Amino acid sequence: MISFNVPPFTGRELEYMRQAVENLHISGDGPFTRRCASWLQDRFQAPRVLLTTSGSSALDMAAMLCGLEKGDEVILPSFTFSSTANAFVLAGARLVFVDIRPDTMNLDETKIEAAITDRTRVIAPVHYAGIACEMDTIMDIARRHHLRVVEDAAQGVMSTYKGRALGTIGDFGCFSFHETKNYSMGEGGALVLHAQEDIERAEILREKGTNRSQFFRGQVAKYNWVDYGDSFLPSDLNAAYLWAQLEQADAINESRLRTWNAYHEAFAPLRRRGRVEGPTVPEGCVHNAHLYYLKCRSLEERTAFIRFMNEREINCVFHYVPLHSAPAGLKFGRFHGEDRYTTEESERLVRLPLYYGMKEEDRQRVIDAVLAFFRD
Ligand SMILES: *Cc1c(COP(=O)(O)O)cnc(C)c1O
Repeated sequence: MISFNVPPFTGRELEYMRQAVENLHISGDGPFTRRCASWLQDRFQAPRVLLTTSGSSALDMAAMLCGLEKGDEVILPSFTFSSTANAFVLAGARLVFVDIRPDTMNLDETKIEAAITDRTRVIAPVHYAGIACEMDTIMDIARRHHLRVVEDAAQGVMSTYKGRALGTIGDFGCFSFHETKNYSMGEGGALVLHAQEDIERAEILREKGTNRSQFFRGQVAKYNWVDYGDSFLPSDLNAAYLWAQLEQADAINESRLRTWNAYHEAFAPLRRRGRVEGPTVPEGCVHNAHLYYLKCRSLEERTAFIRFMNEREINCVFHYVPLHSAPAGLKFGRFHGEDRYTTEESERLVRLPLYYGMKEEDRQRVIDAVLAFFRD
């Protein structure tokens, strides 16, 4: 069976986890957490990065830092994972879903402005498949309407938009290091911060509402409970696993890109014939090969495709059921404007196996099976 995903493992993870044990520091913010955070800061030119327990908790923190009040509105795509929406619901906001662009499956930047009301506070673009949203336009809209931007860059670690790392363009950026993401620590994530006041507030929020971080830097004489908070610190054991991955970040990226490029090239004739559609990478975007998808002609064809692949022991999956049509989406939000693409495009999309270290022969088996299905 060719799995849809294999958790990344580059070789030194267990050695580093053993070191964490021998360091006698397995709770949060130990040597490996610090190493990972400063690597992310340096590599992505970000003022401050805080490791979190998940991509979801990075989003939760970002939503809390937006200072939302009951009834405030957040604009986001409906074609995303539930975490993007949950964070803002927990912070008391109403969700306003806006349609996506069919070429990238990202929030359609031309439809955002019409959805803005006097209650709108935040725009939350999701960089689907590690391919950037049109951030210049989104940032311009946000500036003109005094909105904050929370980038869901869970899938976008190592991708760029006009030379800038995804997750570092908005007010807040959220990464995921879940085992299904390009770089992993099992469960984990990170929050990218810019403004000094956000950084200070975030450190307190992450440390159970205490100013422990300031205390360790010698900025205050004793640490105290100063505001509400929670525990968003991952264990240094998990950070040790991630450190082994970040050391190999370029190798992981290249391995994934090899598979992505091989798929994209092999399916070019199918795209030219209009038989299937594939992902589009707009000019100015460099992506990280987070995932590879095809779009079938219909939901029926996609169902047949997944069955065909499964019969050949190749595991293909689809996502997402649009949030606005889910029970919680109906309860917590509304769709603004016409759902021209969200539902229709999501029903046609199917993901192919793609993971670090995928063997060339497995990749070829996937390609041959896809070509056989669409031969007609
Ligand atoms: C994976 C993912 C998340 C959540 O990340 P976790 O680390 O699993 O909590 C959020 N948003 C998107 C778009 C994701 O793909």
